[in-house]
Amino acid sequence: MLDKVVIANRGEIALRILRACKELGIKTVAVHSKADANLMHLHLADESVCIGPNNPADSYLNIPAIISAAEVTHANAIHPGYGFLSENADFAEQVERSGFTFIGPSADVIRLMGDKVSAIEAMQKAGVPTVPGSNGSLTEDHSHTMAIARDIGYPVIIKAAGGGGGRGMRVVYNEEDLISSVALTKSEAGAAFNNDTVYLEKFLQNPRHVEFQVLADGQGNAIHLGDRDCSLQRRHQKVIEEAPAPGIPDEKRQEVASACIRACIELGYKGAGTFEFLYENGKFYFIEMNTRVQVEHPVTELISGIDIVKEQLRIASGLPLGVAQRDIELKGHAFECRINAEDPKTFMPSPGKVLQFHAPGGNGVRVDSHLYNGYRVPPYYDSLIAKIISYGPDRETALIRMKNALDETVIDGIKTNIPLHQDLVTDPFFKEGGVSIHYLEKKLAE
Ligand code: ADP
Repeated sequence: MLDKVVIANRGEIALRILRACKELGIKTVAVHSKADANLMHLHLADESVCIGPNNPADSYLNIPAIISAAEVTHANAIHPGYGFLSENADFAEQVERSGFTFIGPSADVIRLMGDKVSAIEAMQKAGVPTVPGSNGSLTEDHSHTMAIARDIGYPVIIKAAGGGGGRGMRVVYNEEDLISSVALTKSEAGAAFNNDTVYLEKFLQNPRHVEFQVLADGQGNAIHLGDRDCSLQRRHQKVIEEAPAPGIPDEKRQEVASACIRACIELGYKGAGTFEFLYENGKFYFIEMNTRVQVEHPVTELISGIDIVKEQLRIASGLPLGVAQRDIELKGHAFECRINAEDPKTFMPSPGKVLQFHAPGGNGVRVDSHLYNGYRVPPYYDSLIAKIISYGPDRETALIRMKNALDETVIDGIKTNIPLHQDLVTDPFFKEGGVSIHYLEKKLAE
């Protein structure tokens, strides 16, 4: 087992990783920016190191500072969490070159999945269903581009191979706009991602977002832990997630999960990962793979009984997977509400001092949060301050428990989006299950 791990992240996920390390007897090093000297997990870590000023570019994205922290504390591995450097192949490479273990897949695999065109190619090889499209980058041959679009039918979406975070995409509704849209997306992508490769695919008009969680040990073993529905989104940011995705025929679920496992084996994938799909009219379409732990991993932990972060640490220690697919039994239903420090109506960030925090509890309620009374939420980072997760033997029970948990929660001193969540968990269409990725934005517009 690893001896000492640097947790290269902040907030709730840093605390989540620290707890998993402690369970496994692994020593921890917390790294933090100046603004984050009051983070809860710093008090629980064996050591802590300030890696730079408030600006993330100078701290949580500062590769030399993080590697130096590992050196001075004699750690042997670095856990990147999510966001920040978690999907940065150069970081993974430099961590390994400096003699530390990067807790995640190899730099080559991160790079392959970070380029959407090469990711789609790899998926097609493994038999993972993808969106009908150009199968590769668009060229200067305009008549060829027009033929592809005509063939798959409008609307189509032009996407940057290097895009991320919902940026670098443009929907085209008719042929007149196609070539100019390709040119525009290409120049924007070149400026934003330093890579002007673009490709084209069918624009699905009313899909759901359904993703599969996988674990692989890089020693020939890979398993899946079922799916999650994350369709409730605002500006491509997930708001509520659940597992399993409601109303998916089990046969279809098994078929796609098996393809994901096949892809993991073919890629030599190591660690936790997520295959993201759009799901429409009974069909799955791969959009991208995330090569890290995700914010919404707890809903899967609750229905599978598997601790995903502990598995990441075990795999990075060189151990084979501790469980086989036949040992995995997915039971019950789980929801996660992302609680943000923001105005519930305008969505403006609301940093500041937490005067009072009271977490909910009871049967089937889990709270992953770094909040405490008197904690000051800094204005420099993501506004996620807590994840309330509920579990029940069935979807209805899990949802009632979530409503009760939201009603019990007290966060005073700053604004949060809890009122929005309270509205959503009683929304008749959400209660029914299976709303599309546009549902929340449409509801908000009304
Ligand atoms: P990013 O890496 O920027 O998150 P994704 O490829 O995951 O990019 O796409 C982000 C979002 O854009 C999806 O969740 C979906 O809402 C929308 N999107 C992407 N591709 C399509 C498509 N072919 N049809 C419809 N919507 C799409």
